[in-house]
Amino acid sequence: MTSERRRKSVTVEAYGSLCDFIDHVESEPHDTRVCRKSFFFDTSQTAKDAIESSGIPHPEVDLLLVNGTSRGFDAETNDGDQIQVYSREHPAVHLHPSYVRPEPLSDIKFLVDENSGKLASALLLLGFDTKIDSRLNDADLARISNAEKRILLTRDIGLLKRSLVVHGYWLRSDNPRDQILTIVRRYDLWPIARPITRCLECNCLLQPVAKEEVVNIVPPVAHATYNEFFLCPNCGKAFWKGSHYQRMQLWLDDLRERLKTKAH
Ligand SMILES: [Zn+2]
Repeated sequence: MTSERRRKSVTVEAYGSLCDFIDHVESEPHDTRVCRKSFFFDTSQTAKDAIESSGIPHPEVDLLLVNGTSRGFDAETNDGDQIQVYSREHPAVHLHPSYVRPEPLSDIKFLVDENSGKLASALLLLGFDTKIDSRLNDADLARISNAEKRILLTRDIGLLKRSLVVHGYWLRSDNPRDQILTIVRRYDLWPIARPITRCLECNCLLQPVAKEEVVNIVPPVAHATYNEFFLCPNCGKAFWKGSHYQRMQLWLDDLRERLKTKAH
């Protein structure tokens, strides 16, 4: 019996924003970019193994074709196979059934890794259920994202490659201002945003309370000046429409204006 093994060649072709994981250069608009990478394997590899070897984390893939036929992540690859992968913004995703696209989420919830705290605050400010906890390690983040059906947002590509992660996105930029613009566009959040309804400290929905109820909680000058108050039922923090509220409004106005500019 010989131990001879035949090496298999598989080519991965990425389209649009999935090229970010391969060429790392945004030289062309997303809708025209194409990148190819070829691999040689000694053993059997699934399509998921092949695309992740090319650098692309599976949660970013919305359509996977093997030799032109739509397949799932667990498709076996054979010598000479051509794998094409597309993300949700590419027109090709409308032309084929997809066997990799996860079940739609019933509501939008996020899990943000601890290195993107400002993005988490911005999502909370827009009213989205957003969890961030510096005590969570990578295994915890993958598990919680899966169990609680939360979209995992991270700068760590390796974290997104964990098989438990179903919904996730790699934050290309480390600039929080760019990050929130990208996420609001990608998940079409603006029409469903409920700004300033959630506690920025602990993610709970704020409850309106009568002025008398916060007399011992808020500073006397704020109590005398304002009539509308909100309380977090979890941490007891009080909110009112003071100077911080005006700053939040300016931030929202800025975001609304930037959303009108063309994405590239
Ligand atoms: Zn709170």
